Amino acid sequence: MELNACEVGGKTLKFKACGESILIPGCILYSRGGTIPHLTAENMSTVSCENNLWHVPLETVFEQPGLDVMEKYGKSFHEFISEKKKTLLLNTSDTYLGRPEIYSYNEEKSVSIWAPGGRRKVTPDDYMKYLETFGFDVCIPPSDTVPECSSKKRTRKSFDRTIRFLDRCLQIKKEKNLNVPVLGVIEGGDSKFEREKCAKEVFSRNVDGYVISGFDRIPSKYKEMLQLCMNELKDNKVKIMFGILTPVEVVTAVELGVDVFDSVISYYASERGCALNFVYTQDKLRHRMEKSTSAETTSCESNEESLAKDRKNIDSFEMNLNDKIYFDDTRSLVEGCQCYCCQRYVRAYVHHLLVTKEMLAQVLLMMHNLHHWLDFFKEIRESVKKGKLAELKDILLNNS
Ligand SMILES: [Zn+2]
Repeated sequence: MELNACEVGGKTLKFKACGESILIPGCILYSRGGTIPHLTAENMSTVSCENNLWHVPLETVFEQPGLDVMEKYGKSFHEFISEKKKTLLLNTSDTYLGRPEIYSYNEEKSVSIWAPGGRRKVTPDDYMKYLETFGFDVCIPPSDTVPECSSKKRTRKSFDRTIRFLDRCLQIKKEKNLNVPVLGVIEGGDSKFEREKCAKEVFSRNVDGYVISGFDRIPSKYKEMLQLCMNELKDNKVKIMFGILTPVEVVTAVELGVDVFDSVISYYASERGCALNFVYTQDKLRHRMEKSTSAETTSCESNEESLAKDRKNIDSFEMNLNDKIYFDDTRSLVEGCQCYCCQRYVRAYVHHLLVTKEMLAQVLLMMHNLHHWLDFFKEIRESVKKGKLAELKDILLNNS
């Protein structure tokens, strides 16, 4: 399996995994237990996704189906979920939940995950057992994420554990002769010293790519820490960032050389009754400004403060359809959007579904949000190709 990024025409890149390729900068789909949240395979067929890479958090398969069922089943998880063509990445951290306190439950020999039955400790050996039994395609070893402003001692532990867990996974891979790529995870919180050291150590190991982790926990030092990591990762192996990142943060990461992200933000928005509505082209921005209603102007004004911050809040990039201002709004979620939802339904209907607590609300929101997020990545690739990434960032910063 090849996970190296290679230049293919202009600055559009590809990396291959299991014969599958992904255009980069690109997006891996976030799944829960091997299912895109709220969407059936038929629903998914309306969402245009250009790759078959799915990200699976361990806690969503840890107890259900769990090891016993999969051992009895005797076939791979791909067959279990009837998605034989997917390339599945197994991750111990669930990028959706991102529990802020989780770091305090990690220990010298294990990290903690929350399965339906409660907290479970996972050692690198446990993780590799799941990887092998389920037949997952890409290994992301357990790591110890710490939040901003953690003590020096705690941040050093984050580094020590992360490297130790990686080494143990690499050792098991060798002992069992597993043909699965291993991505080296880079942690170290917001400590320059530990981040740099971790990136150097991971780079020196026989890994197939990198997951630069914990960046949704260190917003104020985001760019500085990411730059430090990227300075050390001098090869062309794939560089991935998971988690809930704003569109501006994604573009900043692309500028610094990150290749792949995930789609968890679309689920995060849908669960809260929100539709991603940020604009990422000049035309759409102009259209938005001309058409903005008084209600939207109010929300624009309230966003002025967040525009001044280094890191814009996620809510600057979405509309909350729970808001009663939408009860008689007969426009589509995002005017001009070509998704299944926007082509058929209006804001007032989705608002009605949310108020009446119909699950169709989240189904339609997921369809829109995934479409919007994946389309944003198409625009990023175009901007990279044309050398207009800075322009794209300006447009994002002007969102209202
Ligand atoms: Zn739409």
